[in-house]
Amino acid sequence: MRSIADHLSSGLLVVDPELTVMAWNRWMTEHAEIAPETAIGQRLEALFPACPVATLKRRVKAALQLQSPSYLQPRKGYLFPVALDRIIDSHFTYMQQRIRILPNENAPHSAIIVIDDVTATREAEARAAEAADVSRRYLELIDNNVMTLGVDTEGRVTRASSALLQASGWTAEILRGTSLDTLGLGQLDVDEIAADDKLPERPVQRADGSTLWVRVRKARGLEDKEGDEQYLVLQDISLQMEIQALSERDTLTGAYNRMKFDQLLQAALSAETRYGQHFSLILCDIDHFKRINDNHGHLAGDGILKQFTSLLQSQIRSSDQLARWGGEEFVVLLPMTNAQEATAAAEKLRQAISTQSWPPIGKLSASFGVAFHVPNESADALLDRADGALYQAKEAGRDRVRLADSAAGEDN
Ligand code: GH3
Ligand code: MG
Ligand code: MG
Repeated sequence: MRSIADHLSSGLLVVDPELTVMAWNRWMTEHAEIAPETAIGQRLEALFPACPVATLKRRVKAALQLQSPSYLQPRKGYLFPVALDRIIDSHFTYMQQRIRILPNENAPHSAIIVIDDVTATREAEARAAEAADVSRRYLELIDNNVMTLGVDTEGRVTRASSALLQASGWTAEILRGTSLDTLGLGQLDVDEIAADDKLPERPVQRADGSTLWVRVRKARGLEDKEGDEQYLVLQDISLQMEIQALSERDTLTGAYNRMKFDQLLQAALSAETRYGQHFSLILCDIDHFKRINDNHGHLAGDGILKQFTSLLQSQIRSSDQLARWGGEEFVVLLPMTNAQEATAAAEKLRQAISTQSWPPIGKLSASFGVAFHVPNESADALLDRADGALYQAKEAGRDRVRLADSAAGEDN
């Protein structure tokens, strides 16, 4: 019996109800560094001053009364301190111990205390808890800072991140189960989107009716996950959209600027090449504008330019595009409009200008050059022809419309 106890890889000691040591195995000798001769006959509290004596006594008495084993998990994690020498970056300073108290069948008034080294298990538990905590904090970080949207196979919202709720003003309760229409994203076919697709910017409808501009993409990393839920990541591009809107407009009149007009003209040329969509241009220059500045001041001139822009904008179709070409010169791009229709449109503008009253100056007129784009003509050649027609209108006495000869364009 004695030698079996000495070969155990657990601590084993026999105590009486007052915790006087009656036996002590080799494991105890090695780990407590107290020889059996010293230990036997001593009270445990004398050997280990930090030992939770009262609790231990209670457990020993209970084990003896009930004649059944009991466990003790010391609050500190150990019954007596054994320094850890193997593990360097351990969570613990001392060996973690599991304590079992068994009634001693060989001697009725004594109990056997078994001490097991459970440091490795506790270490693994502590690391798992730490990892779970890191994951939780990381998820929280994403939830609070990235706008994400979970969508089921029916296109209904399954969840929305806190960042999205905050930016959109919707509550999780309202969004959950609703279609993407609630957010103004009803056009999105989530099944059709691939993770790398560059989708156009989209307006998200906020709870207060305002617009949040976003770029949407499918969340990466979840593509091969089987399941009913798909995730979208939304990037707030409101500021980008604002800056872009500002960058394409003339600050005085609010009309498109020349840079934007160049893009619109290139798009019209592409649409003609690809889909055969014809178009025309109108160049328009205010007559004797210099006199307005001279007679009424530059600020009055600015006011006229603003009014002039509003008038043009109100007279053209919504599909037509107006830009300030520079100074007191404007240009209109008219998609799906032939030479006759564009000339009529210019004539309508001319009349609207000359019949209106223009405080503080009174009367105002403008001259117009119209050009219908001929196939394969460059943007510059088209503008040259429109400019030529405008020059003719000025030469002929101003306040009139001239259509550019389309044959001239074919030679360019
Ligand atoms: P024409 O009938 O031949 O077109 O005569 P015009 O006086 O309109 O033409 P001109 O090119 O000689 O003069 C254009 C004037 O427009 C000169 C310039 O000071 C003025 N102008 C250009 N941009 C602005 C602006 O932003 N604000 C104001 N107030 N005036 C401007
Ligand atoms: Mg001019
Ligand atoms: Mg002018």
